[in-house]
Amino acid sequence: MTDQWDNVVDVLVAGTGAAGLTAAITAAEAGLDVLVVESTPKWGGTTAVSGGGLWMPVNPLMIRDGVRDSVEEALQYMQEAIGDAGPASSIKRRRAFLDSGPQVMRLLGRFGVRWRRCPDYPDYYPDRPGGKVGRGVESAPFDTRRLGEWYATARAADGLPVPVMTDDVWLLGRSAGSCAARGSSSARSAAWRPASAWSGWAAP
Ligand SMILES: Cc1cc2nc3c(=O)[nH]c(=O)nc-3n(C[C@H](O)[C@H](O)[C@H](O)COP(=O)(O)OP(=O)(O)OC[C@H]3O[C@@H](n4cnc5c(N)ncnc54)[C@H](O)[C@@H]3O)c2cc1C
Repeated sequence: MTDQWDNVVDVLVAGTGAAGLTAAITAAEAGLDVLVVESTPKWGGTTAVSGGGLWMPVNPLMIRDGVRDSVEEALQYMQEAIGDAGPASSIKRRRAFLDSGPQVMRLLGRFGVRWRRCPDYPDYYPDRPGGKVGRGVESAPFDTRRLGEWYATARAADGLPVPVMTDDVWLLGRSAGSCAARGSSSARSAAWRPASAWSGWAAP
């Protein structure tokens, strides 16, 4: 029966976005034989063109920096922001999401992802009960030349190759507002400094 198939694997992953590739890495690390398939000519999915920020309460980098947070506060915030949305966002699922975030960070960290906090980036409703500033994390920029020939088929290659971090966008927004308010081209040089560590994005 099995010889009717082109490939027989333990885990077949459909899609090359964050969900698919993280699932594939998880399965491969567990010693399973994994095949990832992608239905478009490019890999990376929506993930590759997204802002790349992860909302991750009680993450290890917050704890390292002494920022107070708790699963209970995050659950309170989710209830305030989402409300009752049925089984798709049950308390059990919310807890699973909150518990697995740091595990995902550690897993991908073992494979070379270097995480950064977004200390200035707020929850969308930071003033609501349980809301906070600085729960976001993102990966540090890395040298895409490490991808070798894989880069040619990366959806990320379609974009502007500028390693802008979340807090840079925050600062750029302020800078643009400042320029518009002054109406002066010289204001374009108004001080903004990339929050990302430009010297720190070489390959580990
Ligand atoms: C401009 C923008 C900015 C965003 N910024 C953020 C952000 O900062 N933070 C955040 O949390 N979210 C953000 N999002 C949302 C986030 O990008 C998506 O929720 C997330 O990337 C979805 O990941 P995924 O792995 O589920 O799907 P995707 O990344 O879309 O990957 C799905 C992949 O599966 C492939 N596929 C589909 N069907 C099949 C099939 N039958 N067989 C094989 N392959 C298939 C697709 O071609 C695609 O490559 C943003 C979205 C956009 C558009």
